[in-house]
Amino acid sequence: MALANENYLKVPQIYCFDEIEKKVNAYKLLHPKAEIIRLGAGDVTRPLPAEVIKAMHKAIDELGHENSFRGYSPPQGYDFLISKIQKEYKSLGISLAKETIFINDGAKSAIGNIGHVLGRDNIIAIAEPVYPVYENATIMSGRAGNIIDESKWSNIVYLACTPENNFIPELPEEKVDVIYICNPNNPTGTAMNRAELKKWVDYAIDHHSIIVYDGAYEAYIQQDEIPRSIYEIKGAKKVAIEVRTFSKTAEFTGLRCGYAVFPHELNVFTKFGESVPLVDLWSRRNSNYTNGVSYIVQRGAEAVFSAKGKQEVNEIINYYITNTQLVRNELIALGFEVFGQVNSPYIWFKVPDNMSSWKYFNELLFQKNIVGTPGILFGSKGEGYMRFTGFSSRENIPIRY
Ligand SMILES: *Cc1c(COP(=O)(O)O)cnc(C)c1O
Repeated sequence: MALANENYLKVPQIYCFDEIEKKVNAYKLLHPKAEIIRLGAGDVTRPLPAEVIKAMHKAIDELGHENSFRGYSPPQGYDFLISKIQKEYKSLGISLAKETIFINDGAKSAIGNIGHVLGRDNIIAIAEPVYPVYENATIMSGRAGNIIDESKWSNIVYLACTPENNFIPELPEEKVDVIYICNPNNPTGTAMNRAELKKWVDYAIDHHSIIVYDGAYEAYIQQDEIPRSIYEIKGAKKVAIEVRTFSKTAEFTGLRCGYAVFPHELNVFTKFGESVPLVDLWSRRNSNYTNGVSYIVQRGAEAVFSAKGKQEVNEIINYYITNTQLVRNELIALGFEVFGQVNSPYIWFKVPDNMSSWKYFNELLFQKNIVGTPGILFGSKGEGYMRFTGFSSRENIPIRY
């Protein structure tokens, strides 16, 4: 009898955001003429930068000739791309060894797979509301412990982010071993500055904990006091993995490419207290569980770092940022209590009349033909809030609420 991994039964059958798509499709069937304004999905909508397309065309042609054909990528990714990433960090004053940079098929893979190299009994800290994959991956890998109440798990320490702390997670009173930080944060659009992030780095150093730092929205940072990388903080290489992606930066959500940094200085511990560099474990996992990302896509990602590529990417990001600002201004003018936006493509706002976020989702869809994301999808602390994104097209703005 083949047994199931029952941990997989502990998370919902339908990935939370697919639920929205289902409801919108049902609405469209009933109201085929409705012009729907999409401010819900966390997915980009602009076409790929021309430089990326050009580089990929060239790469395909190379694969069509015997003398330039390529098979498997090196397990960590091609040097041409790793060098560009290394240089990008250098421009922030951060020096990284090439063998600590791993090209992957996007941030979700790195976040979902990190559990492979961590012990079972870690206590995990997760901010709330936040990107749901941190918690789901923790549950599915059998690390969440027992369910306590209202879908809270015994081995997860939830860091409540509320208007009182400006949606910035505060240090826990108890000891935690693995800390997920999303900065700037999805869905609240808020971002920790260097001083706030330093508290977490210092905490992790003091407690021999590690930080999984999700920098998916690094390219949207506008304010100088917000760090572009956790490695800008002194000592962070000893405690932090940094996960980045071309998805929200360069329209790669469909192409798939990202990278993760595992500094040599970052150690985890055996039960006898011996330290092990985490990069050694990750490197084993990487070469045994994946054959990486296609040559074509890595060439496309490389083009993002060219002068022209950078310029095109900046234009796209500015387009999304302007969308986000316009929607935010509209909501403020309408009297909503609005958070976030400044360093991210997300606006987080309080649902009117103490409605539940799903009830408000329906009201928005049926009365205004606007699709948002109910805050509850990002954890119970998201109840009573709604997320709008700037990944819409400009024709949708003003949203005519
Ligand atoms: C979109 C998103 C990701 C997923 O990125 P991919 O590289 O497309 O897998 C990861 N983290 C956060 C916070 C996101 O919003």
